[in-house]
Amino acid sequence: MLAALAEPVIHHRARDYRQIYERCLARLRDVYRTQNDVLMFTTSGTGAFESAVANLTSPGDRQLVLSAGNFGERWAGMVQAFGAELIHLRLDWGETPEPDDLRSALAGGDVRVVYLTHSETSTGVVCDVQALASVAREAGAFVVVDGVSSLGAVPLETDAWEIDVVVSGSQKALMCPPGVAFVSVSAAALEAASRAGAPRYVLDWERTRRAQAKLDAPFTPAVSIVRALDVALGLLLDEGLEAAFDRHARLGRACREGAKAMGLELFSPDEERSAVVTAIRSPEGVDATEVVSELRDRFGITIANGQGELKGKIFRIGHIGWFDVFDITTALAAVELVLADAGAEIERGVAVTRALEAWAEHTPV
Ligand SMILES: *Cc1c(COP(=O)(O)O)cnc(C)c1O
Repeated sequence: MLAALAEPVIHHRARDYRQIYERCLARLRDVYRTQNDVLMFTTSGTGAFESAVANLTSPGDRQLVLSAGNFGERWAGMVQAFGAELIHLRLDWGETPEPDDLRSALAGGDVRVVYLTHSETSTGVVCDVQALASVAREAGAFVVVDGVSSLGAVPLETDAWEIDVVVSGSQKALMCPPGVAFVSVSAAALEAASRAGAPRYVLDWERTRRAQAKLDAPFTPAVSIVRALDVALGLLLDEGLEAAFDRHARLGRACREGAKAMGLELFSPDEERSAVVTAIRSPEGVDATEVVSELRDRFGITIANGQGELKGKIFRIGHIGWFDVFDITTALAAVELVLADAGAEIERGVAVTRALEAWAEHTPV
């Protein structure tokens, strides 16, 4: 994958590129598990999400955003920026959205679009997006899912779960540099887009769909990243999606069990589904900002701080993409050292052992 990034930059209208483009689009459909078009944009995940809002909104439309963390909040702000009438179902950060919450919020009727965040990376919660999407569809709304950090890590069935739009990006579980993002679009959503009044040009779905159908990107794509993405998607599909989902579930379990063994309190749910990022409360008296910078400075290990109101209170260990169990045990061992040096009361010498045991357990999901 890294070698693909170093390949000469070929012309995006040359035959060599078209072959890569075609294979990459086909592989994306496989990873999305969809027959729908997956449209590719040269932008980050947020840009692809904006394509969904721009193509599905006419000013004054009633649209609902379910938020329970930083990314959900972002989508609420975006929907408002496009002039929709926002119904904001706003849960506390770290809460797991339940279908009944959504059902009640939709009871007012006439909501055209529902936006869901599958994996809320700021909190570690992975919701039951299948159940939530089903509630939204029963209410007659289009369903847009933020799958930026979930696609390729945990099960996400675009067609089987009848999700109109799934947004994702190159740089999370798909293991590539940032810069390319995608959105799968159902026939009904494409048709609705042709009547949506919000202005757009670069992010226009129909313009991109028409060009992609001829393997001719409407604008210059990030050629090197598409090359890398083609390789990365190949790796994922060679491993097999089910095997990759199982690996992620076991990585998440190893991380949670290791953290608990040293006496830490989880912020993200202690459940198999939350296999994208594990959020851990920083012990009393220890600032998570310090933990994050110590890990980086002393060991070259990157973990993440809390976002927004959780900054300094939690730290997050990500485990998606090119990740194996030793990445987890290494991170846990380093967290243990840093916390012990900071004077936290933690249990020494057990986290790595417990993580390896948990990794070895095969509990069918
Ligand atoms: C990273 C992330 C995004 C934002 O994507 P960008 O590529 O940074 O624009 C959106 N949603 C979720 C859930 C994410 O994890």
